[in-house]
Amino acid sequence: MVEHLLPKQKVAGSNPVSRFRNFMKIDLHLHTTASDGILSPRSVVKYAKLTGHDIISITDHDTVNGIEEAISEGKKLNIRIIPGVEISAYKGKQEFHILGYFFDRQNKDLLLIFEKMKFFREKRIKRILKNLDYFFNLKVDFVEMKKNLRVKNYGRPHIALMLLRQGVVENVQQAFDLYLDDNGPCNVPKYPFSTNAAVNVIHKAGGVAILAHPGIYIANNIENLNYFLEIGIDGLEVFHPMHNKELTMKYIEFAREKDLIITGGSDYHGYLNEDFFSLNIALTEKEIYKLENMSKDLCSKEKI
Ligand SMILES: [Zn+2]
Ligand SMILES: [Zn+2]
Repeated sequence: MVEHLLPKQKVAGSNPVSRFRNFMKIDLHLHTTASDGILSPRSVVKYAKLTGHDIISITDHDTVNGIEEAISEGKKLNIRIIPGVEISAYKGKQEFHILGYFFDRQNKDLLLIFEKMKFFREKRIKRILKNLDYFFNLKVDFVEMKKNLRVKNYGRPHIALMLLRQGVVENVQQAFDLYLDDNGPCNVPKYPFSTNAAVNVIHKAGGVAILAHPGIYIANNIENLNYFLEIGIDGLEVFHPMHNKELTMKYIEFAREKDLIITGGSDYHGYLNEDFFSLNIALTEKEIYKLENMSKDLCSKEKI
């Protein structure tokens, strides 16, 4: 579980696989101010460098806007940045997050869907604020919220932070529990994009599609994962702060059995209680190699 905390070793050899360093510090799930994180893409890269990372991916919600800045900072600091994204999608009423890696950032279909989501998001947040006012007489001003929180992609956590500042709640979690949860009294559903469509749009852009933090939605019910196999998911985010050791081992077993790529990341936003930067992510460079190769396969399939 904590292999990356061990000293790095170089393994010599002519076989490309054996050239991989066994222990690298990798984090494939990080948020920035391009969506709802607290640090800019540049700062996330700096922080990753300070904490000894070799490879990271910026995976903002439904946007690729933070990637260029991260890549240019990564070049300066000699840390590899993998282009990533975390797409919000639905299977019926259940929300799932699909991570995409190594896709074409200029892909028109991908950019169009993110534009639609952005438009929808602003309308949704305004409706949630109206609900807070209507049902609970709690007033959060949208313009003031935008001004106070220098992020480009608003979400419920920002409303929760505003309520925290007003002293209405004691922490972010309480705001969710009382008002903002998926089934909470003030929530409004997100843009209705299906899990199937999310996997397809990532594949068509030449990327690899990974089911994010399955433990949050599926927990121990491994059977439910079969649906994601049917829609063509390429891998599982096995290492995630919300997965305990037992769940992590179950997902590793499942991924190996079904020949799925294993990924992991801290899901760092910078303000939530569970935010710990890159704890217990036991990924090796070999997994990155697999991800990249799968993406090349998908790209060549696209061209046929
Ligand atoms: Zn997520
Ligand atoms: Zn995330």
